[in-house]
Amino acid sequence: MTAQEALHTYFGYEHFRSVQEEVIESVLAGKDTLALLPTGGGKSLCFQIPTLVMASNDSEGEGLCLVVTPLIALMKDQVSNLRSRGILATAIYTGMSHEEQRVAFDNCLYGPYRFLYVSPERLESEAFLKRVVQLPICMIAVDEAHCISQWGYDFRPSYLRISAIRDYIDVPILALTATATPAVVEDIQTQLGFRAPNVYRTSFARDNLHYVVRETEDKPEQLLHILSRVPGTAIVYVRNRKKARELSELINQHSTVSGEQSSVSDYYHAGLPATERNAKQEAWKEGQTRVIVCTNAFGMGIDKPDVRLVIHYDMPDSIEAYFQEAGRAGRDGAPAWCVLLHSKRDAAVLKQRVGNTYPPAEEVERVYQLLCDYLTIGLGSGRDARFAIDVEQFCTDMHLSFLTTYASLQLLTTAGYISYSDEQDLQPRVLITMDKEELYQLNESPYQERLLSALMRRYTGIFTDPQFIHLTRLAEDMGSTEYAVNSSLIALSKQHIIRYIPAQRVSMVHFPVARQGKVELSARVYADRKTQFERNLKAMEEYAENDHYCRSQLLLGYFGEEDAPLCGMCDVCLGKGKVNSE
Ligand code: ADP
Ligand code: MG
Repeated sequence: MTAQEALHTYFGYEHFRSVQEEVIESVLAGKDTLALLPTGGGKSLCFQIPTLVMASNDSEGEGLCLVVTPLIALMKDQVSNLRSRGILATAIYTGMSHEEQRVAFDNCLYGPYRFLYVSPERLESEAFLKRVVQLPICMIAVDEAHCISQWGYDFRPSYLRISAIRDYIDVPILALTATATPAVVEDIQTQLGFRAPNVYRTSFARDNLHYVVRETEDKPEQLLHILSRVPGTAIVYVRNRKKARELSELINQHSTVSGEQSSVSDYYHAGLPATERNAKQEAWKEGQTRVIVCTNAFGMGIDKPDVRLVIHYDMPDSIEAYFQEAGRAGRDGAPAWCVLLHSKRDAAVLKQRVGNTYPPAEEVERVYQLLCDYLTIGLGSGRDARFAIDVEQFCTDMHLSFLTTYASLQLLTTAGYISYSDEQDLQPRVLITMDKEELYQLNESPYQERLLSALMRRYTGIFTDPQFIHLTRLAEDMGSTEYAVNSSLIALSKQHIIRYIPAQRVSMVHFPVARQGKVELSARVYADRKTQFERNLKAMEEYAENDHYCRSQLLLGYFGEEDAPLCGMCDVCLGKGKVNSE
């Protein structure tokens, strides 16, 4: 089977887009490859097609692509999408039970599975790595590959572990991203151990986007004004959760902002439970909500074509973050607006942000030692310990500032002292506290009796350790609803027959090494990154204060595209400032 045939047979498309074909050929030739394509540009096919081609040409019909991607929601989407095309795919991520992970592994080991999606955190487990390399892997795809670079705007330390797989298996690697500066492009290839530099890209130019910076000392007023003037779906990015809620309320109270939708505005941030986040996101995607006011937790992987307006209420951390977020406007090619609100006060705010993101090293050290005390980990012990932690509570109890504590946990993670992960959705757990003998003598309702035997059948070990359970599966077993199962579990726990730990959203901290007496923050972890962070903010400020150069040119220049034409659509081009076109 050729790439063209696979495109036609599996996906029903006639032609490749832009550089897709070159990227696919490059991977099929066994070369490590980096592909830069805009969001919606078709990055998934770049690894899906070569995998299908390799598997169809393999003498034993084997071939599995290991896909590393940071977003669990995205994995689930892609897995179901592939399955709907008759291609076997599965995913392994933090939060799945051991049993589920084992089943997924076995499927990939013994079945004709083509794609295994994993979250980068899984690669931190040696046991996981050892198992992964037993699989018939034919290529590795790294989605959102900018996450591997500490110079990128969304660095994830666990991405660095990807290169460890390469010590065990010799297959081509394909890195994909929509946003990377020249420095990040180079860094991605170095970090992933490319055998030779090899980059394919399409221009980042988006000629339907109007870039605008609005100077104002009254951001709320300006926000309402813009929303009342530009019709259609909008995203408003803010820096913190409280502001997201407050601004959304403000918009809803304001009659000049209206829409045909049932609700004008809603808010979204990572602190909300998954079900609520999904509901909000869906309502906005389906057009029931016009404006979503959100933190940067919103948007990655969301492909809504008709966003007409993206407003940044606060300054983003970098040009890359800005470009990525603003670029969610106008995917359908129709004109759209990207507005940055800027005030004189922003400079001071940014300065403070540096201090909050990079607190003094002594402060980071203090957070580490207090954290260990808080979790009662003695010096030299605690290796591989794992705790659920409520960071806000920890800060209150220890009289720490939330912002700097949060930043310290990130720095300690990068330095390898801990591995902190923000607010994951934990499945509910159950431990049967009564022993078997007693259980048989109980006089339960028939429903409870059946539920108990379903629990025992499904989850061995439930008498000794709390086991992760699946309400959906139990509801299937019982021929009833999740709600009924949940109520019954609560009743059983009130009768002290089981201990029931309902689903919750928790942050986790893991100690890869024992408690150390001293914290050393190397230049790579602290000083270099702080400098880079300041540089990124500076570039953002320059963008905001610029009234001389075409905004589109400025942005593209930042990504190494030197010779882009004047956009003719930004506020500077339209005469709000002077345009320098030499
Ligand atoms: P990205 O990951 O780059 O944001 P996706 O891989 O999710 O983009 O693709 C975006 C959409 O474009 C998907 O619906 C995909 O099926 C479609 N697509 C990709 N390549 C082609 C093509 N060659 N022809 C038609 N549609 C395509
Ligand atoms: Mg994608």
